[in-house]
Amino acid sequence: MKQTDVLIIGAGPSGSIAGSILLQNGFNVTIIEKEQFPRFVVGESLIPKVMQHLDKAGLLDTLNEQHFEKKFGARFLKEDKVCNFSFAEKFTDGWEWTWQMPRADFDYTIAKEVEKKGAEVLYQHAVTNVDFSTGSVITSIEDKNGNTSQIASKYIIDGSGYGRVLPRLLDLSKPSDLPPRGSFFTHVEDINRPDTIDGTTITFDILHQNLWFWVIPFSNGKTSLGFVGDTHFFEGITEENKAEKFNEMIQQSDFYKERFSNLEYEFEPVMKVGYSVGVKQLFGDRYVLTGNSTEFLDPVFSSGVSFAAESSALAAELVSKALKGEDVDWQKDYSDYILRGVEVFKSYIKYWYDGSLQDLFFSDNINPEFKKQITSILAGYVWDKENRFVNRHKTIIKTINHFQKEAQSL
Ligand SMILES: Cc1cc2nc3c(=O)[nH]c(=O)nc-3n(C[C@H](O)[C@H](O)[C@H](O)COP(=O)(O)OP(=O)(O)OC[C@H]3O[C@@H](n4cnc5c(N)ncnc54)[C@H](O)[C@@H]3O)c2cc1C
Repeated sequence: MKQTDVLIIGAGPSGSIAGSILLQNGFNVTIIEKEQFPRFVVGESLIPKVMQHLDKAGLLDTLNEQHFEKKFGARFLKEDKVCNFSFAEKFTDGWEWTWQMPRADFDYTIAKEVEKKGAEVLYQHAVTNVDFSTGSVITSIEDKNGNTSQIASKYIIDGSGYGRVLPRLLDLSKPSDLPPRGSFFTHVEDINRPDTIDGTTITFDILHQNLWFWVIPFSNGKTSLGFVGDTHFFEGITEENKAEKFNEMIQQSDFYKERFSNLEYEFEPVMKVGYSVGVKQLFGDRYVLTGNSTEFLDPVFSSGVSFAAESSALAAELVSKALKGEDVDWQKDYSDYILRGVEVFKSYIKYWYDGSLQDLFFSDNINPEFKKQITSILAGYVWDKENRFVNRHKTIIKTINHFQKEAQSL
């Protein structure tokens, strides 16, 4: 039977970042990936905190060569109001930019680099079973022709994203405490893109309190468009009428309807409903879950890939320690840490959909210090204990809105 130190499920950002760090630490890595790359996956707007992990994993040089569109902030629109956030004006020290790009290209670039660094990547192989009953972890895999084989490893990292392999096999899934929401998205050739900053600025256009529209322009002339909101906004969409319904939804955006009406779609708009999920535990005997296989919240703050990077970089360091025979406190050093960040983002997602964060974004008198601290959250610095918007995440937005309303009524 084939042997490896660490078997990783999935060659998405989680799998590639973990793999690269394990290789740097001197371990053998085998990555099992179900699809042939490049493959489509949603999640095309990054946030700056991800950059420190890409840097640490030695993946920035190859990514720089791709000339993806740089992202320096984010713009939110609501009716005739505009709220811009610039990552350069954040409270926490750290990266001030990142990228917005087709994930197929991003994921393929980093997976190829990790392979070049020495990982074995088995594409078109799916993990079908994992057995922890012996001294080694025995993983069963199946190729696209149905041929099966097994690999023995000392540790297994699950970066299988929406595949959620270990949560399914080990019965670790639990429902999310966020209500189910839907999304509907595609790519277009952006033939009406203006030659101004407007053409390339990533934008979230709020169509209703619980429905927003993303516009993510790429450097290859294409743009990703998507709607996210309560599931009732997507009722009546069928396989047959997807393109027509997508065009109808674009008409709700006064700002973008001219630019994006009646364009051909690069692929039939995709609908995903109820994607928020949770897990009962993030680690166990000789396994750890990273990225989307742990917890995925909501696309609104583009936090998915950043969490995938944060968790997989940390998991790779802790697995390295464990394999060197050092003690690892997985509960404190991994689970508690990751879930602390998840909880902060979760508060802001709740504030977003109950309207209170939108009220603050579009209020005329947002305190500049508050704005810097909120920008840190939007940049992914959700572990910065110096930031009161992190420390008091459960109540702070409601409290500020309350005092602003009181002040206005005086
Ligand atoms: C509508 C929507 C919009 C989003 N927008 C954003 C955004 O703007 N920014 C952002 O950061 N995030 C966004 N996300 C989240 C983002 O898609 C994920 O968080 C991110 O892809 C997680 O990376 P990952 O490496 O954990 O998993 P993935 O990228 O899903 O990679 C997992 C890999 O595992 C492979 N796999 C699955 N099952 C198996 C198996 N049995 N055996 C072998 N391999 C397997 C898959 O083929 C896949 O390649 C969005 C999500 C949704 C639903």
